[in-house]
Amino acid sequence: MIDLRSDTVTVPTPAMRESMLAAPVGDDVYGEDPTVIALEQRTAELLGHEAGLFCSTGSLANLLGVRLLVEPGQEVVCDVGAHIARAEMGAHAAVHGLTMRTVPSVAGLVDVDAYAGVVAPNAGPYLVSTAAVAVENTHNFGGGTVQSYDRLVALGELCRAEGLSYHLDGARLWNAHVATGVSLSAYGSLFDTVSVCFSKGLGAPVGSVLVSSAARIAQARIWRKRLGGGWRQAGILAAGALHALDHHVDRLVEDHAAAAAFAAAVGEAAPTAVDVAAVQTNIVVLNTGDLPAAQVAAAAKDQGVWVSALGPRMVRAVTHLDVTVDEARTAGGILGRLLG
Ligand SMILES: *Cc1c(COP(=O)(O)O)cnc(C)c1O
Repeated sequence: MIDLRSDTVTVPTPAMRESMLAAPVGDDVYGEDPTVIALEQRTAELLGHEAGLFCSTGSLANLLGVRLLVEPGQEVVCDVGAHIARAEMGAHAAVHGLTMRTVPSVAGLVDVDAYAGVVAPNAGPYLVSTAAVAVENTHNFGGGTVQSYDRLVALGELCRAEGLSYHLDGARLWNAHVATGVSLSAYGSLFDTVSVCFSKGLGAPVGSVLVSSAARIAQARIWRKRLGGGWRQAGILAAGALHALDHHVDRLVEDHAAAAAFAAAVGEAAPTAVDVAAVQTNIVVLNTGDLPAAQVAAAAKDQGVWVSALGPRMVRAVTHLDVTVDEARTAGGILGRLLG
């Protein structure tokens, strides 16, 4: 089976397991796990922030990050395909009592004018006030697209001018960094809060880190405990993430090459199903045309390729640590024949 459903399906490498086994640990609720502390400090430094908080999931890191910036009854503005709006089960509303408004986007890419037309800080006694803007880089449902650095800067300037905070869902910021060469700190320091995932392309089994100022992270630590997310000898998990930082960031170029090979192979047989030039990182979106996406995904599975049907006519394939370029090309050939 070639599993391209997500980059979350990887299993830890033997070397990663060894580093986890050897990790010094302590009680993280008491702030005594040295490996967790090392991961939090290192991630914060990489992203140009003061402090970090290790969390079980990216959804939790986003939930805490947005809550630091938005009070109950206020809103966060994001794009219509944002993970925080579509894939976090309404947690921001259900748990924290804040609302969201979404702006349209093409492939998840930031359109500063679209945000400028929607944000409403200090909206008075009759309308919901915007407190923050959130963006995603790379953009998952946009097809692994990389945000233009200049537009991220421009949107940050809009936020500052309007007195709004700025959150980055950087679950795959590593992929954006490797694709563009823009440093992680250049990206990270544009934002008030940033979440990053270790369990996607970096191949760790569990975990995300939220970074921000020391004062905000102290608040996030309280919220994490309140939500039942305090944990004890979590250094076992943090060690996997540290190993990934040492060994699995630069190799993301291979995942990007595998995605390009997959897309090219699909395009050879089914040119209308894929925009080969739009593939920027490790995610490929296919348009299944007249065929229902679920039917295409089922037929591919019968032939040994697992992909996700994410819309009525949209299939997503994601490359990762456990798929070679050759396997990706083979899988693309199979999808191409199904769609051609
Ligand atoms: C995966 C992902 C997350 C977090 O997902 P979890 O499964 O909760 O770790 C957040 N944002 C984006 C864009 C993602 O792709």
